[in-house]
Amino acid sequence: MTDLVLRNVRLPDHLSAVDILIGGGRIEAIGPGLGDDVAAPVQEGGGALASPGLVETHIHLDKAGILHRCSLCHGTLAEAVSETARAKAAFTEADVYARAEAVLRTAISHGTTRMRSFVEIDPRAGFRSFDALLQLRADYAHAITLELCAFAQEGLTNEPETYAMLDAALARGADLVGGCPYTDPDPERHVSMIFDLARKYDVAVDFHLDFDLDAAGSNIPHVLRETEARGWGGRTSIGHVTKLSAMAPGEAEAQCQRLASAGIALTVLPATDLFLMGRDAEQLSPRGMFAAHRQAGTGLLATLSTNNVLNPFTPFGDVSLIRMANLYANIAQAGTPGEMTTIHGMITTQAARLLGAPDPTLARGAVADIVLLDAESPAMAVATVAPALWGCKEGRPSFARAKPTLFDPS
Ligand SMILES: [Zn+2]
Repeated sequence: MTDLVLRNVRLPDHLSAVDILIGGGRIEAIGPGLGDDVAAPVQEGGGALASPGLVETHIHLDKAGILHRCSLCHGTLAEAVSETARAKAAFTEADVYARAEAVLRTAISHGTTRMRSFVEIDPRAGFRSFDALLQLRADYAHAITLELCAFAQEGLTNEPETYAMLDAALARGADLVGGCPYTDPDPERHVSMIFDLARKYDVAVDFHLDFDLDAAGSNIPHVLRETEARGWGGRTSIGHVTKLSAMAPGEAEAQCQRLASAGIALTVLPATDLFLMGRDAEQLSPRGMFAAHRQAGTGLLATLSTNNVLNPFTPFGDVSLIRMANLYANIAQAGTPGEMTTIHGMITTQAARLLGAPDPTLARGAVADIVLLDAESPAMAVATVAPALWGCKEGRPSFARAKPTLFDPS
């Protein structure tokens, strides 16, 4: 039975506008004029682009919106880690919930329907952030699928309590586990310990990796070895990986081929990479962001994501994935329609694959996670930072935004 008619919308592969019939949370049919005789509520699309719901593969809801509590002097990664560590000791559960909720609501209003958030669990954060985000995950399940990655930001081998706390969080409902080998005195052991937890709970792993611009000293080989030894292909992902942008083109391509064949996905975090990298350059500062879309030929599964909002890692942000895609395209000098269509895929279809979610391509039978973008194509949505006008999660409307009205002198 049809619950909702989405009328007069544009799909990338259709020349003219179509209607989308939605029932039981899924797309029942797509075609021109389908909604004319159906007795169901109608959402007029006004010719907007119907896109799969946007998917955020890497964000930190727990430490969003703390900029005013931190001092930023150098804008380096080390400063961001230490300032955030200091601030999080004072987090309360209500405080984390309020900040994370504000970001989540904004993300929903920009068309995001699925999200992976890291949540720091260690002796300073305790379980306060985790408890807040567990509640948030439940409270907003009607509008967004939120998965929580129990995350060791500040090391494991140097702080054994953190390992036990991650274990407890996984037992209590964390969806996956993540680590940050570059802050650990023993990066390889750190990676192995995260995999131990992943195997114990049969969950995915996600690492913050290779976050500097020295081409040497990559942790990719160890993550590759562990992924292959434990059969974790398709459930391992890595974020940042700015080292790849410092490697010679052939070397970076060879690494991407190895990642692809091992089933390891990569998330680029344009705003943070651009803000924190290359701080020692006095002129011609490097971009420090890996242009992963150029590696499509290697089969690498690549996405782009927000990472941080209004904190020492990224003192900017409106949690709009379309804006982040535009930023990525600009930094990566990706301006052709084909490239920008690929980049739209990095926040939709590819991002859903990274999270192990069903293919979100809008087709009969697909889950009805849909966002209407004020653009004529995915490429133009990226090029123009197209506003999200309306969205639904499993067929339930989740937000609407009116187009601006301009007043002329009459
Ligand atoms: Zn991150």
